[in-house]
Amino acid sequence: MKISGFQKLTLLDYPGRIACIIFTQGCNYKCSYCQNSLLIPHENEELVAEEEVLAYLNQRKSILDGIVISGGEPTIQIGLVDFIKKVKSLGLLVKLDTNGSNPKLLKQLLEEKLVDYVAMDIKYLLEEYSVVTKCRVNRNNLLESMNILKNSGIEYEFRTTIIKNVHTMDIILKLCKYFDNKQPFYLQNFEQSEYVPDKTLESFTRDELKEIEKIIKKEYPNVVIRGL
Ligand code: SF4
Repeated sequence: MKISGFQKLTLLDYPGRIACIIFTQGCNYKCSYCQNSLLIPHENEELVAEEEVLAYLNQRKSILDGIVISGGEPTIQIGLVDFIKKVKSLGLLVKLDTNGSNPKLLKQLLEEKLVDYVAMDIKYLLEEYSVVTKCRVNRNNLLESMNILKNSGIEYEFRTTIIKNVHTMDIILKLCKYFDNKQPFYLQNFEQSEYVPDKTLESFTRDELKEIEKIIKKEYPNVVIRGL
C-alpha cells in the first residue's frame, strides 16, 4: 500500500473513537474541492512504510480503538485487504473513508468482516457527478456501494461536502432523496485552502447553513449539518 500521511491521533475522524489515521496515495477522481490534492499524484517518494504504522498500532493498541484509512482513495490500493487483516489481527477497529467507486472491494471487506465503519462521499447528483469530480464516474458503481452499505448491518455514513457556488438548495434537497431517512446523512461545509485545486469555490456562511438546515429538516429530519 502507498501511504502518504500518518497522523498518530485523531478524535474527530472516527465518531466516538480514539484512532490514528492514514492517508493513502492516489485517487481515481479529480475533485475540484479536494483538500488532499497533494495525495492525488500516484507517485510520491516520501511514503510511510506499512510496518511503521503496524508497529505503532501494536505499541498503542491498548489506548487506540482503531484506525481510519482515508485518502486519496484507499480502495484503489493494491494490498489494502492484507494491510487491514494485519490491523484486525491486533484487535483494532477499522474505519474506511471511500468515494464509493469500488463496490466489489467494499463487498469483500464487509463479507470478510474487515471494516467496522464506512464513510462514503455522495458528491453531487449521480447523473451529473463530473461537475464535482472532473472526471467520468460509473454511476452504477456508486449506487451499488450505497446499497451494499444500506444492507451491511455495520455502522456507516453518507456525507456530502456542500459548496456555495455548486450545491444549490434544489440540489441539496435532491441529494437528500437518495437516503431512506433512517440513518444520518451528513452535510459538511466546504473550506477553501491552499490545497484546493479550484480557488473560485466558496463556503456557505453560518447563517446560510442555518437556513439550509431549517429548510431540509422539515422533510429530512435525519440530515445533519456538521459543525453547526
Ligand atoms: S475522491 Fe476524495 S481524495 Fe479523491 S479527488 Fe475527490 S476529494 Fe480528493
